[in-house]
Formats: sequence, C-alpha cells, structure tokens
Amino acid sequence: MSYEEALPEAIKVALNKLTLLPTYGERSASRFLYNLLKLPVDKRVEVVKALEQAVQTIRPCAECGIHTSAEVCTICSSPKRSKRFICVVEEPQDAFAIEKLERYKGVYHVLGGRIAPLEGISPRDLRIEELIDRVEKYKAKEVILATNPNVEGEATANYIAKLLRKHFPDLKITRISYGLQFGSFVELADELSLEKSMENRKTL
Ligand SMILES: [Zn+2]
Repeated sequence: MSYEEALPEAIKVALNKLTLLPTYGERSASRFLYNLLKLPVDKRVEVVKALEQAVQTIRPCAECGIHTSAEVCTICSSPKRSKRFICVVEEPQDAFAIEKLERYKGVYHVLGGRIAPLEGISPRDLRIEELIDRVEKYKAKEVILATNPNVEGEATANYIAKLLRKHFPDLKITRISYGLQFGSFVELADELSLEKSMENRKTL
C-alpha cells in the first residue's frame, strides 16, 4: 500500500487546506493537524469552533485595519484615544503588542505588510494612500513608524517618512528604535524593550 492510499482522505484534505496559510508548508500543516488530533474529541471541537467563530466574525477595522468584530474597532471609536497620533504597524498583531503595554493613547494604522521587492510586494500593495488620507483628515500631529526593526521594516519606514514629509512638511514623524534589537519583530518583542522603544522614539 502506498502512502497516498494509507493516508485517510480527511487528513489529506485538511493538510492541503492548511497549506493555504501564508508561510505554512507541509511541515507546519502536519504539526498543526496532528497536534489537534492528539486532543480528546471534545477539545478538538472546542478549538475548531473557536477558530470558526474568529474566521467568521473578525474583519479589518474600516479605519485603522486592525482586527475587530465591529465595523470600526474599539480603539478608533474610543473618545479617549487621540486620532492626532497615528502609530503605523505592519500587521494587526503588532498593534495589539503595543496595546498590551497600556501606555499608548493614539490610534493605529495597519499597512498590511512591508515593502518586499523580492516577494513582489510594492508600496501599492500596502495601505499607504489610506494613511495619507487619515493624516489629512485628522490633522495628525505625529506619525510613529513602528514597522519591524529589520531591513524591510526600515526600508518601509523610510519610504513612508519621505512620502509623508512631502505631503505634510510640519508633521512630526518618529521611528521606534532604542531597545529593540535589529532584525527582530515588534510582535515578538518583550514588553520592556517595546515600551522603551516607544518612549525613546526618535524624530526622523
Ligand atoms: Zn480601528
């Protein structure tokens, strides 16, 4: 009997679907599925139900692009948050990492990635036009560039800084830096380092 014949059809289909996830190859898909199948059936169902709930209800905030189950997220709709401070991040989870510090009182702007020519991701693929619109609409005082402290994140921050300066000569443009190791990710930074890098952000 071949491997193909031995593998139950349901597993084949599930593995195949899991590889639709960005960065998920055969190995990641296998790890996810086989770990899930190790759980007792009732727990498996709980995990899948929670995933189903998330995939069916979560969408990007119409303003900032972070994950929300409403049209506009709780941050954008809070009267306590100033829209004159906009923190630009690559992905929604980066905003949540900063949010966890409970210090930042402005709003976010999710780019949806970073400029990566080798992967064919150009500025046009990111939410940069939307950022310019929001800076204008909210008469923003400061834009904090919190893209990842690595080569692509730096290049993306520099590109956006240049563009913003052209449109808004008086806008304060800052970059998180101090405390975060080069080559790292905002999402994975420890809280103290991330807090330092926000507090000691430098003006570009
Ligand atoms: Zn929002």
